[in-house]
Amino acid sequence: ATFTHITDYMGFEGLLTEEERMIRETARKFVNAEVLPIIEKHAQDQTFPKHLIPKMGELGFYGPSLPEEYGCMGVSNVAYGLLMYELERGDSGLRSFASVQGSLVMWPIYAYGSEAQKKHWLPKLATGEKIGCFGLTEPDFGSNPGGMLTKAVREPGGKWRINGTKMWITNGTVADVAVVWAQTEDGIRGFLVEKGTPGFSAPEMKGKWSLRASTTSELVLEDVIVDETASLLPNVKGLKGPLGCLTQARYGIAWGALGAADACYQCALDYAKSRIQFDKPIASFQLQQEKLAWMVTELTKGQLLVHQLGRLKDAKTFTPAQVSMAKMNNVNVALEICRKARTILGANGILDEYPVMRHMANLESVYTYEGTHDMHTLVIGQEVTGIPAYR
Ligand code: FAD
Repeated sequence: ATFTHITDYMGFEGLLTEEERMIRETARKFVNAEVLPIIEKHAQDQTFPKHLIPKMGELGFYGPSLPEEYGCMGVSNVAYGLLMYELERGDSGLRSFASVQGSLVMWPIYAYGSEAQKKHWLPKLATGEKIGCFGLTEPDFGSNPGGMLTKAVREPGGKWRINGTKMWITNGTVADVAVVWAQTEDGIRGFLVEKGTPGFSAPEMKGKWSLRASTTSELVLEDVIVDETASLLPNVKGLKGPLGCLTQARYGIAWGALGAADACYQCALDYAKSRIQFDKPIASFQLQQEKLAWMVTELTKGQLLVHQLGRLKDAKTFTPAQVSMAKMNNVNVALEICRKARTILGANGILDEYPVMRHMANLESVYTYEGTHDMHTLVIGQEVTGIPAYR
């Protein structure tokens, strides 16, 4: 597939503004030129393509909808979503990098930080000169982060002492600053912990079959002492702090997953038209057409869902339960689209000559992180029945 166009069955492009189309087009060209030629090797080698960090900053991939006064682009949430779509068409690992940087590090500094913290961090995070990570999950607390054991205790002289272990932290090893969530005497609070602080380390986790072109780490905090003014995010208390960040990131993921699906759909469509079996292109067989019809239908429904969600987000009326529906549905259908594409490619579907198996394996992580498929199902269940069913 040449990937010159986004899959557009239902006039999706017509829903976009001129600026949104331009932003998407620039991102598409970047991904085609800079990501597709190198990404399979990075995935095979389990390395993140670090040289792309400043280029992605230049294109505004980090916190694009945050205001220009902090070095961001102040564009619409639909433009942000389109960027995530294009980036994940390259690889979910790259989109994860941008999601963490923009939604899980820049956004909480913007929404919960002091003016000095915002001025200090946001412009450098926007360009990619500094890298951030988000430490919420722990070895024993994944879907239930409210039970976290990491603890921060006030010390004399405006200091805090933090102890605990975080796990599965994207960008942890490479980050200059970690947003660490910890229990305190006033509930869960967020802290900015800088690389090199004594007692703080971030060993890389290896051995993943998914998101191989993304760095995943533990965060170990052993009697880490931080300064309250520089480190504590002053304007939020409680689990709503980290959950607010996750709502931002999940919004981008609901768009991004479709990018991976689009790549697999286009690849399968091309392949089906050119692969000959029983003297005919396999695209002429009803069983293969059924798969392609299902794939393009679900991709189209997903696009319309996130477009509406983006407009609601711009109007500041969107709810976390609406984001749950989009994340749950779009990641689920994206994974299924990739699986069907894999079958259409036959044996070639497992090779790294095609992007399909990489996307499929990546989406297994996306299905689980940022709230598992099941947890989002429970959010929607509670929304429509009024009855929580988590425990
Ligand atoms: P568990 O919570 O143990 O869940 C296991 C299974 O039980 C799931 O199927 C789940 O749906 C189900 N389950 C749990 N509770 C219920 C219930 N009440 N009812 C029904 N079913 C239930 N975290 C961060 O903080 N920062 C990051 O940057 C980050 N990056 C990640 C990168 C990768 C590659 C991965 C894989 C994970 C990352 N995570 C990160 C962690 C991720 O958010 C967690 O894995 C996720 O929240 C699920 O937690 P868990 O893996 O402990 O699964």
